[in-house]
Amino acid sequence: MILAANFKTNHTRKSTRHYLERLSNFLFETSCEHDIFLFPPPLALDFFDDIGGVCVGTQNAYPAPSGAFTGEAGSEQLEELAIQTILIGHSERRGILGESQAFCAEKFRYYASLGYTIFYCIGESLEVRRAGIEATIRHNLSQLEGIDLSYPKLIIAYEPIWAIGTGVSASLEQIQETHAALKAHLSCPLLYGGSVNLSNIAEILALPEVDGALIGSASLKVEDFCQMIQKI
Ligand code: PEP
Repeated sequence: MILAANFKTNHTRKSTRHYLERLSNFLFETSCEHDIFLFPPPLALDFFDDIGGVCVGTQNAYPAPSGAFTGEAGSEQLEELAIQTILIGHSERRGILGESQAFCAEKFRYYASLGYTIFYCIGESLEVRRAGIEATIRHNLSQLEGIDLSYPKLIIAYEPIWAIGTGVSASLEQIQETHAALKAHLSCPLLYGGSVNLSNIAEILALPEVDGALIGSASLKVEDFCQMIQKI
């Protein structure tokens, strides 16, 4: 299983290190065999070479090594911190920051060319979901335009926008049906994200079509994240 924690704009560099140390100890003590990833906010990234068992990635980066892109980090800055994993296409970046599909695909191509592990997010709005399963699948597939689905370090996260941060996860039936339809087009791991928490993680990850989870709010406390890992 793949479990990833997305801190969004929460935690400082100090609290991220503290979190990572506790998480790493927990993974070691429990001989955890799952793949665990953590996406802290950009200013909390550091050279975490002393932390074992957790792969730290960036929530965002510009598709260039360096240059005139005010406020953005490029691959040169990530390289200094030995970051080799990136999140692309999260609905908050598509929606709040206006990232287009073309730009997500450009980021994908650039970071794939550097061999990064890429967590690529897709997901539909409530309006699309209400239009039915066919419209939902069509929309999600449109968010894969320009993405090389045979890239060996690709992990896709299906995250319905209406389930993100709302406390209301998609139902098991909705997750199962959507994952099954998407998996017909994919060979990479497919994670579910959207209000995964301590109470629902076991049943969601027990679905055979689900290869892991991307977790936001419920991952912010290290004790909770460790408990979720223990439940799978
Ligand atoms: C996310 O931001 O990727 C996410 C799934 O958030 P939450 O778990 O809070 O719904």
